[in-house]
Amino acid sequence: MSKKIVSARDFQKALEVGRPPNIKKLFPDSKALIVSGKAIDRAMIAKGKAIALAANGRNQFVIRGVLQAAQRANAAVIIEIAKSEGGTKSYCAVNFWNMAMLVDTICNELGITIPVAIHADHYGIKNEKDLAAAKIEIPTMFEAGMTSIAIDASHLPDDKNLLTNIAITPFIPKWAGYETEVGEIKGAEGLSTVDEAVFLIQGLNAHNLFPDWIALNNGTTHGIEEKDSGIQVQLTADIHKALEKYKVSGAQHGTSGNSSERLRQIANTTHTTKANVATALQMISWGVQVNDYGNAILDADGNFNKVAGGGVTEEMWAEMVAHAQSKGWKKGDYKNLNLPFENKLLAQSKEIRDRMVKAVKDFAYKMIVEVLNSRDTAPLVVEAILQAGSHNLGPKVKRTENPAEWSEQKIAEKASRLGGNKGPAGKFDD
Ligand SMILES: [Zn+2]
Repeated sequence: MSKKIVSARDFQKALEVGRPPNIKKLFPDSKALIVSGKAIDRAMIAKGKAIALAANGRNQFVIRGVLQAAQRANAAVIIEIAKSEGGTKSYCAVNFWNMAMLVDTICNELGITIPVAIHADHYGIKNEKDLAAAKIEIPTMFEAGMTSIAIDASHLPDDKNLLTNIAITPFIPKWAGYETEVGEIKGAEGLSTVDEAVFLIQGLNAHNLFPDWIALNNGTTHGIEEKDSGIQVQLTADIHKALEKYKVSGAQHGTSGNSSERLRQIANTTHTTKANVATALQMISWGVQVNDYGNAILDADGNFNKVAGGGVTEEMWAEMVAHAQSKGWKKGDYKNLNLPFENKLLAQSKEIRDRMVKAVKDFAYKMIVEVLNSRDTAPLVVEAILQAGSHNLGPKVKRTENPAEWSEQKIAEKASRLGGNKGPAGKFDD
C-alpha cells in the first residue's frame, strides 16, 4: 500500500531531486513540483487502470481550474498546449514559451503541491522544412520549461514518420516525456492498424528510442464532435496488446466527444495513461454548456447554450459571438476567440473570473475521480522519483530489436509491405 499523503519531508526531497534541470534553472526557489511527463505515466501504471488528465491550457482559467481539481483529487496531472494552439502561428495567448511560467506561478500562488508535467502536444512535422525548423525550435521550448513532448509526424508515410522521429529525438532531453503518433487524428477513416503501430515502435526500439506514449487514430476527431461514434475501444485494446512487450502507454486524443462510459472502458481495457481534453474545458470556462460527451449543447437555432450567470459575463459573450459572426466563423472556429479575448477575459471582475475557474475545477475533478480514475496518484509520482533518486526515470524497456534490421533502406522496404490506408488527405485539426 502506498501512502496517500506525501510528507513535508518527502515533498521537499522530491522538489530537490525530481524537478528536471530546466525547471530548477528557471524557478530555483519554487515550491511547484513540475516533473517529467515520464513520472506522470509511471504513476498511472503504478495505480493501474488510471489515466492522467492532460488538459490543454488554452486560457489561464482552464489552467487554474485544472490545477485546483488535481490538488483536490490528490492526482498527478498534465498541462499541455499543442503547436496549433500555442506555437508560432497560434490562436491562444498561452503558448509553448509561457506555459511553464504560468503553471509554476499559479502553483506557488495557490499552494498546489501535486506533480504537474508541462507537455507540448502535437508538435507537427510534415516535411523536411518543418524538421529543420524543429531542430531549432524544440530546444527553445525546453529552455522555456517544457518537460514532455508529442512528436507528430503522422501526416507522413509510415517510413518517413519513423525516420522523422529518429531524426528529431536527439533534440529532446533524455529525461523528458516523449509521445509519438501513428495515424493522423481524423475520425473513422484512415484508422491506425496493429501493423503500423508495431512497425513504428519496433523501429524506434531498434534505435534505442522508447516512447512513453503512442497516440493512435482510433476513431476520434479533435474539437467539436459531429457524431457520438467516438473512440474504437477494441481497436485500441488490440494495438496496445500487440505493443505490450515494448511497454508503451497509450495517449488518447480527442477525448471531448466521448461518453464517460466509453472513457471508463478505455481506462479498464487498454494501456492508456494520458487523455487530452481541450475543447470541453475551454467551453466550460466560457460558460458554454456541455453534455456528458464534453460536447457543447446547441439550442434549437444551432447556437451555443450559454449558462446564464455562469462563465463570462453576458455582455462579454455577446461580444464574443458578434466577433465570431463578423469573421464568418462556424462553431468549430470559436477556438480562434482565445487569442483576441484573453486580455478581455482577464479584465473581468474577480467574481466573474472565479466562477469561470470554478466551473473548470468542478468538471475536471469529476473527470479525474469518476472517469479517469487518477485520484491519489500524486504520491505515486513522488514515490517513483524518490526511488530513482532522480528527475530522470529512464526508459521502461531495453532494446530488443536488431538495429541492423532497421537501416534506412530496410525501414523503407518494411514500410512498403505495410500497405496501410491513410484515409483521405485534407486539413484535419491538430
Ligand atoms: Zn490531439
